[in-house]
This record gives sequence, structure tokens and C-alpha cells, in this order.
Amino acid sequence: MNCRWCHNPEGIATTRRPLFFEKRCIGCQLCEKAARAAGEQLGAERTPARDDVQADVLVRGIPYRARDAENNALWERIIEACPSGALAWDSRTVTSAALSDVLLRDLPFFRHGGGVTLSGGEPLLQPEFAADVLQRVQSAGVHTAIETALAVPEKNLRTVLPHLDHVFADCKVWGRAAHIAATGVPNDRILANLRYLLCGAQTADFPTVTIRTPLIPQFTATDENIRAIAQFLASENPAIHYELLNYNPLAAAKYHLVGRAYCFDENPRKFTEAEMERFAEIARGAGLKNVTIDR
Ligand code: SF4
Repeated sequence: MNCRWCHNPEGIATTRRPLFFEKRCIGCQLCEKAARAAGEQLGAERTPARDDVQADVLVRGIPYRARDAENNALWERIIEACPSGALAWDSRTVTSAALSDVLLRDLPFFRHGGGVTLSGGEPLLQPEFAADVLQRVQSAGVHTAIETALAVPEKNLRTVLPHLDHVFADCKVWGRAAHIAATGVPNDRILANLRYLLCGAQTADFPTVTIRTPLIPQFTATDENIRAIAQFLASENPAIHYELLNYNPLAAAKYHLVGRAYCFDENPRKFTEAEMERFAEIARGAGLKNVTIDR
């Protein structure tokens, strides 16, 4: 998915990419020296993507192409040259065993509550990896959860479910055309996976389930959208926990990192508690019995 308002725009790409954190830059120009040695010229500022350059993303004027080994080697040299971490990869490869070991260092804290939640991006894009991590931490007695948008084949969901105590699943936009316009993909798979969860949640030995809608002004936070989503959920499982998440204006600050424009020219404010409660009442009116708001 590629939601217009994505809260984690750096998590959308499924390949690693270079990022430029301007505030960390100490102006040493070592990156420029490394680029010059390879015949490239680094720009001083973040450079927006251009149509005439073949690249997954342009970072400070130099194209990055994930599947181009030579280009990757160039970026390795540039990033290695940066002493302050202003130029850095957005992600790294890790094995499920190594990640589980890191997570289990917090085992003493988990004994007093909390647990491990795999979030994203979309953790169900790597179902075997996610299942292995979850199985390892769950068998150590840690509560496990996942946050997913469900735009994946059902088999991905089924692979992970046996190792989960709780599922947070999004239902953002009602209607196929509106869903494509707002998120870049149709909602058929999401609806099928939601039905599976809503049905399963009524049986024993199934993880508990929360369905969530992030309230994004103009996109998801409309009476019609909340009513339609709630009617669908209520028709399948009226007792399901439905949570409305308040708009979070902080995402806007991250868009410069990925050279992308945010969906709002003027960042809207969060919804007031009264406005959130009004949306919750719409969902209750549509037949849902367990609606909460997250301020
Ligand atoms: S190497 Fe890093 S800190 Fe130095 S100028 Fe380049 S981005 Fe800034």
C-alpha cells in the first residue's frame, strides 16, 4: 500500500534506501569527496525526484537504484564516509534469530506486562520471518501482536496467526474506487482477510482482534466512511473491538527524508475529544458494541 498520508513513509519501500538527515550534518564534506572519487556530484540540499532520471529515489542529487550493484557500491562508499550518520541506510538485513535475541534482552520488563508488536511498513510481507520471530519470543512467554493493513494474500496471514496473541488490523477506506485513490491498491484482499479475522475472533484458540481506522481529515474521517466500515464490521461480528485513532500531525516532518510531498499543504490539527466521540457514536449507531477512541 502507498497511503497518501502514510505515517511511516520511510517504511513503504521494500528495498533499503539511503536517507539524508539534514540536522545531523556537520558539513565535513567527506561524502562529497567520496562521491567525487566516483565521478558523481552530491548536491548540498535534498533533491526532489525528477522524471528524467532513472532511480528508485534521488538523495542529494544522486540516484539510488536498489537492483544496481554498482550504484549500491557507490552509496556504500558515500554512507561509510559520513561520520555523523547524516547519510544512512533506512534499514538493514537481520536474521530472525538475531532479532529475537535482541528482543528477548527485555524479557525482565515483559514479565511486568507489555510485549512485542511487529509493525511496519507491513510485517506480513515477510510472513516466514515474522512467524519465526513471533514463535521465538512467544515460546519465551512474551505477549505477541502485529499491526497490519492486511493487503496481503490470506496465506501470509495464516502463516503468522498461530504465533500471535493479538492482531491490530486496519480498515481505512470503504469502497473499492475510494480505496485505490487513497492507498494505491484495491481493498478486495483486505476485505477477505478482515472477514477471516472477524469470523475467527468468534472462536476459541484465536488471537484477540482489534480493527482500527486512523482518522485522516478528508480521506478517512468522514461520517459516510466510518458508518460504512462499522456497518460491514457489525454485519460480520458486532462484538469486535473497533478503535478510532486520532490523526497524528507529526508524520509531515518525515516526508523530506524520502523526497516525497505530504498530502496536506497545511497540516491539519488533531481531532478534539468531542469530535472523536462523535465518530465513535456513528460506529456504535451502525451496530458495533465495543468502540473505543485513541486520543
Ligand atoms: S559526510 Fe555526512 S556530516 Fe559530512 S557533509 Fe556529508 S552528510 Fe554532512
